[in-house]
Formats: sequence, structure tokens, C-alpha cells
Amino acid sequence: MPGSSRMPISLRNTLSAKKGGSSSQLLALNIDLFRNIVFFLFLLRWSRKALLKLKGRGVFGTFADTYIAVRRTLYGLFLRAPGVRSQVQKQVSEAITKLQTKLVPSGPGVVRYLTLPKDGWSEEIVLKELEALAEMDHTRWEDGYVSGAVYHGGDALMKLQTEAFGKFTVANPIHPDVFPGVRKMEAEVVSMVLAMFNAPAGAAGVTTSGGTESILMACLSARQKAYSERGVREPEMILPETGHTAFRKAGNYFGIKVHLVACPGPAYQVDLKAVSRLMNSNTVLLVGSAPNFPHGIIDDITSLSKLASKRNIPLHVDCCLGSFLVPFLEKAGFETELFDFRLKGVTSISCDTHKYGFAPKGNSTVLYRT
Ligand SMILES: *Cc1c(COP(=O)(O)O)cnc(C)c1O
Repeated sequence: MPGSSRMPISLRNTLSAKKGGSSSQLLALNIDLFRNIVFFLFLLRWSRKALLKLKGRGVFGTFADTYIAVRRTLYGLFLRAPGVRSQVQKQVSEAITKLQTKLVPSGPGVVRYLTLPKDGWSEEIVLKELEALAEMDHTRWEDGYVSGAVYHGGDALMKLQTEAFGKFTVANPIHPDVFPGVRKMEAEVVSMVLAMFNAPAGAAGVTTSGGTESILMACLSARQKAYSERGVREPEMILPETGHTAFRKAGNYFGIKVHLVACPGPAYQVDLKAVSRLMNSNTVLLVGSAPNFPHGIIDDITSLSKLASKRNIPLHVDCCLGSFLVPFLEKAGFETELFDFRLKGVTSISCDTHKYGFAPKGNSTVLYRT
């Protein structure tokens, strides 16, 4: 404020020349520059995203995706509008009630135990209750009417499994010093499955609680590898739309963006050109199934492997369902194509011992090339 200062004019000038002149100008310039840099980076980031999107999905695909996203948002808003909302809630609660009547048994003779019993149960009561639970009205898997959910090797094997389980009921594999036998079993199971899939020397693996956990671990390891080796902070994976739902869970759990790729007829294998277009520097994992759950079709793993090794990106082969069948097709004289570690690009494989390995449910393996 000129005139209000008590500072001598001579001093005022030099000071203000210094302050108002060079340094504050410099500051303004710096802020301007900084703003421009931030804006440029912002522009760069979004144009890169837009270009990758165009490359990955093409003009039509990008347009379709945008249209679907906008429609979904608008529809979401519409469903929350007054008047509509109450209707939606009514229908949802009707659906839940319907599901409950189907899944939760009711009626005379059905007791629901929602708190601990006042007096402890005798062994006899426990057994009787378990018997009642096993006999509850259900889809008859025992007669072979359930596909893709129950894998068992007959009564004699089930009896043996039950006995085996009984020997290790309290065993906790996290303490290999307390349960050395469990560690030995795991190591040997893994070694057998590695050999089955022609793993090279130096390959490794672990047992897990099921195919879902095996797949989750493979995705997590691919994400971590990309982060530590290439600094990938916005990981993406490319999944055939016939891939198991566990991959989408992995996407959710571990913050990996999932690109779904069509599997067009008549082969219903994953569209390789689409996979190739979607690959970019954020890609941490490619996926193929051997075979997939919906159709029992094996993807073209040889070509996926070529794509993967060319760009040095891990490839997971989901052989959960194939488990102990697909590795033996060749030996059994069927026409087959390579799908395992003999293909250089294959870096991990999930194999469910609980499926055609006929181990009890609650066991699977995940194998890594290195
Ligand atoms: C069964 C299966 C899985 C998952 O296995 P769970 O043990 O049920 O978790 C994954 N992929 C395929 C192809 C499967 O058939």
C-alpha cells in the first residue's frame, strides 16, 4: 500500500524492488511453471489412458464401453430416484425372501441353533444332528447328478480319506517343526504335480485350500513381480471371458484391473488378437484355461505363451479342472496340444488335487516356473 508505510522512501524502493521485483516475480513464474507441469502431466496421463483404451478396444469397442458406462451410471441414478427406490427395495427384499425359502430349511422338525446350548451335547446328540444335516433335502450329488461341483473317487477312497484326515485333524502346517510329516507331504505333493506338468529344475509350488486360493496367489505374485521389477502401480490383467470367477476376485482383492476378452465361436477359445491389443506396460498377467469351467474348452496356450514371452509378461494356465486328467491325455493316446511348462511363456499353473486328483475338498496346488 503506497503511502501507508513509514519506511523511508529510499529504503522502500530497494526493498520493494527486491521483493516485488525479482523474487515475487520469480515466485509467480515458478507457480506458473509448476501449474503448467502439473497440467501437462495430467494431460499426458489421460491422453495415454485414452490411447491405450483405443488401442486395446478399438474405436467401436471404446465407444461401446463408454456408452455402457454412461448408461450404467444413469441407470444407477434412476434406481435411486424417489419413488423408484422404494419399488426397487421391495423387489430386492422379495428376491431375498425367495432365496431364503429355497436355501434355508424351515417347517416342523427344523430347529435352528443360534446360540451355544445351555448344556453341552453328548457325543450321541452330535452324531444324530450331523446325520440329520447330511440327510437334509438336497440335490442328489451321490447319484452323479451334479456336474462341476463334486469330485469323488468312490466310497472306499472316501473312507480312506476320512481316516487320513483324522490323523492330522489338529495339524497346522504353519508349524513345520511341530508337524514335520505335514511339511513332507506338502513338499512331495508339490513335487509330484510339478513333474506332471513338466516343470523345469528350480520350479516351485505350494498347496492351498482350493483352486480359488491357488489362482488368487498366482495373481498376487504376478502383481508383486511387476511392481518390484518394473514399478507397475496400476496393474492390469487380461482374462478370457470364460476364465474362472476367482480371477475377478483377485482383481477386486488386489486392485488389479481386469480386461475381459471375448471367446468367439466356433472355437470358443480366447481371441488372441484382442489379447495382444490389450497388452501394455501395465499388464502384469495373461491367463488361459486348460480347460475352462463353462465349456470345458482349452485355450490356445501355445499362442498365448508366444505372446507372453515376446513381451516378457507372466502367463498363468488355469488347470484346476484339467487337474489330473489333461496332463495324461497325451499318454492315453488322445490328440493334444502343449499347455504346460514345456511352453516357455507359461510361468504359473493352478492344479486342483481335490478334483481329478480325488483328494478331499480343501486342497489344491499352485506351481511357479521360478
Ligand atoms: C474348480 C475350478 C476353479 C476353482 O476351484 P475351487 O477349488 O472351487 O476354488 C478354478 N478354475 C477352474 C477352471 C475350475 O474348474
